[in-house]
This record gives sequence, C-alpha cells and structure tokens, in this order.
Amino acid sequence: MPRPIVAIIGRPNVGKSTIVNRLAGRKEAIVHDEPGITRDRTYKQAFWCDREFQVVDTGGLVFDDDSEFLPEIREQARLALGEAQVAILVVDGQMGPTAADREIADWLRQQPVPVVLAVNKCESLDQGLIQAAEFWELGIGDPFPVSGIHGSGMGDLLDAVIAYLPETSEEDEIEEIKVAIVGRPNVGKSSLLNAFVGENRAIVSPISGTTRDTIDTLVERDGVRYRLIDTAGIRKKKHVDYGAEFFSINRAFKAIRRSDVVLLVLDALDGVTEQDQKLMGRIVEEGRACVLVINKWDAIDKDSHTIYDYDQHIDSRFYYVSWAQRVYVSAHTGQRLQNILDLANIANAEHKRRVSTSVINEVLEDAISWKSPPTNRQGRQGKIYYGTQVRSQPPTITLFVNDPKRFNDNYRRYIERQLREQLGFTGTPMRLIWRGKK
Ligand code: GDP
Ligand code: GDP
Repeated sequence: MPRPIVAIIGRPNVGKSTIVNRLAGRKEAIVHDEPGITRDRTYKQAFWCDREFQVVDTGGLVFDDDSEFLPEIREQARLALGEAQVAILVVDGQMGPTAADREIADWLRQQPVPVVLAVNKCESLDQGLIQAAEFWELGIGDPFPVSGIHGSGMGDLLDAVIAYLPETSEEDEIEEIKVAIVGRPNVGKSSLLNAFVGENRAIVSPISGTTRDTIDTLVERDGVRYRLIDTAGIRKKKHVDYGAEFFSINRAFKAIRRSDVVLLVLDALDGVTEQDQKLMGRIVEEGRACVLVINKWDAIDKDSHTIYDYDQHIDSRFYYVSWAQRVYVSAHTGQRLQNILDLANIANAEHKRRVSTSVINEVLEDAISWKSPPTNRQGRQGKIYYGTQVRSQPPTITLFVNDPKRFNDNYRRYIERQLREQLGFTGTPMRLIWRGKK
C-alpha cells in the first residue's frame, strides 16, 4: 500500500516548509524568506506514532498584489489536494487571520479533503492559545497552536492528522528490500548475482528501473522480495572490457542511493583496499544499511588462525563501521550464500526500527549517571534534557541539550557508544543530532 499523503497548504511565509522539515525530521527543503517563490512539489517521508505518511508542500499559494488567489495556483493546489488524505492549513498566529487565509479556508471547505488547522509561530503556550482562538472564524474547526521552529504543539496536531489516515492493513503487500551489490571489478558481484537468481525464485529478471539503462532483478525468498538494484551495472561489464582499473564508481554511488541495504563485496584475496574504503565512506554518508561480503573464501589457504586474522584486518580498516556485520562466502562453492540475505534482512529491519522516547531516555539517564557531561572553564556543565528518535532509515536521534558546545567529542562518542550498546541497530549507521535551546 502506498503511504498516505498529507498536503501542507497556506499562504507564503506562514512557515509551511519549517513545519514540513519538522515533520520529516530533516532540514532538507530550502526555506525561502522571500514570499512568492514557487517551488516544486516535494514529498517527504514522515511518521508519527506507528503511522507513516508522506508530506507534500504545495509550494505556497502565491498571490498577486491584490492578494487574489490565482486560478492556476488554485489548480496546482487542487491537484496536490486530490491525492492527499488530509490537508494541514498553516496560518501565522503572530499575524492573526488575513484576507488571504479566509480565502484559502473558504476554498478548502469546498474540497473533499479533511483539513486540520495549524496556527504557527505560537511559541508561548498561553499566548498561543489566545492567538489560535482567533482562527475559529475560518470555520475549519479546532485551531492547533504550534511552533514549527520549536516543535511545540506538533504532537496534538499530528494526533488530529493521523486520525484521518486510512488504517494500514496488516497484510500489506509483500515486503520489498532494495539491495545494492557494490564492489570493485572482479570481486565476484555478477557471480553472486547469478547465485542469488539461481537459488531463489527470480520473479522478474530483469525489470527496468527508473532510468533507461538501470536494470533491477527481483528475487523472492521466504516471503521477502529483494530488489537487486541496477544489475545492469553488474552484468554489462561482462560484454565490455573496461580494463582492470576502470570501474564506474558513480554507478555504484547511484545504486547505493537507491538502496535500503548495500552488500559491499570484497575479494578475500585482496583484503580491504582504498576503493573499498571509498565505497564504505559513501554508504555511511548516505546512511544506508550494509553487510560486508567477503567473497572467494574458497581461494584462501586456511588454518585455525585465518578467520581471526582476517577479522582483525577488517576491524582495523573498517573501525568506523563496527556496526556492519560480515560474512565470508564463496560464490563458487555456494558456501554461506544464504547468510547474505539473512544479514541483509536484519540490517534492513534495524535500519527501519524505531525506539520509543522512554527507552532512549532510560539509556541516556543511565549513561549520564555513570559519567556526567563535561564542565567548561567557566564552570558551566553540559545538560542533556532528553532524546528522541526523529527518523529512521537510518535511525536518527536528536538530543536536546542546553548547549551543544559544552559536549566535547570524547563525551559525544561516549553517549553514542552507550546508545549503540543498548539500542543495537546492528547493520545500520546511526545518527545523533545535538540540538541546543534556541
Ligand atoms: P513558507 O513560505 O510557508 O514555507 O514559510 P517558511 O517555512 O519559509 O517560513 C517563513 C518564515 O517564518 C521564516 O523566516 C521562518 O523562520 C519563520 N517561521 C517559521 N516557523 C516559525 C515559528 O514557528 N515561529 C516563528 N517565530 N517563526 C517561524
Ligand atoms: P564482478 O566483476 O565483481 O562482477 O566479478 P565476477 O563475478 O565477474 O568474478 C570475477 C572473477 O572472480 C571471475 O573469474 C570469477 O570466476 C571469480 N570468482 C567469483 N566468485 C568467486 C569465488 O567465490 N571464488 C573464486 N575462487 N573465484 C570467484
């Protein structure tokens, strides 16, 4: 089932993008201070409680000098609303209701979409309620005082929003995990691909991806569907000899970006090379889950120390991704090949997992009581008020603190380690955002 859509609507400068960013937990959309800039519609993933949805900013209803709600803009907004299950009308609480707000509200009331009214820029609680009350006159229903900048009031607003979203059915479509197989030339990517297709049920192979020459392969195993991404990039080189040094790192980067989980394939005979490090760097940057696949394990002369030594070698080269699980395989003999998809499954689930705020705060409290935050030269101590997971894929936790500058790298690493140890998130990078009081 596609994720339901929540449309954000309102005149320029009321704080729509700020609210979208708050909902999506990322500051990615550009916030314009200049009114009247039309923007492309962008869809962002968001969630509240256990509900996932997409937020679409209608781009700001733009008015000409007479504040007229122009027909073409109306059409754009109508299209955006047409696919939404619920709309959030954003107004500016500090400014009070304007003629334009009334016009949009009148129009919205004629649309077949439920509307929740967000009165933005209500930073102070008492005043916010008074400011919000002024908007009863719009006839949209309960005005919810919020502050997009501070995040206050968003919980109540979202409770009202998700009440309008369709129940997500248990028997959703079969789960699909997007898997990129990347690695240097000749590490055995196409051999692995063939092995996956050979041992599992390949449903459609191959199917075209988004751009003309990307080709994905779908395989199914134990009720899970794996979309092996851009397998053309893996197959093609069979026909063209680029020479040993060439490989399309950009193609690999694109595959990483489209994936949930990356299988980074290494050649056991070569060990970890600089190019492998570069690929791993990108995986971490993009926040993708990852499984390290050490292939050609059959070609290694082994004694009782081999695996131990090899583990140490990998630990030292990939010390910054100790969360990634590894598996020693052979595409030739088939040894441990099924483990690859098992680990990809785990990594994918962890990448998506959400941890409740209370659990995070238990971990934080415990960590702080073992080791208090540093105190600076002026005798001021860092304080962590609370932490909450603001997104998944990858799991991202925001820590609300008095002043991020009071936390040195050492202490930050300590907190990160504690969260890792207690929360797991095996197979996926994790992000921490230290946010001070504004
Ligand atoms: P949009 O044009 O509706 O998308 O509005 P923006 O999100 O670009 O915000 C317009 C202006 O309002 C920016 O200068 C924001 O910093 C400011 N703004 C947004 N949300 C709040 C808020 O909650 N409180 C206050 N005081 N200002 C806000
Ligand atoms: P790609 O360039 O990463 O797609 O690598 P290929 O799958 O084309 O494999 C490159 C070479 O490594 C070929 O000669 C394969 O036969 C060989 N190869 C692939 N997997 C294994 C393996 O598990 N063991 C051994 N010994 N050789 C392998």
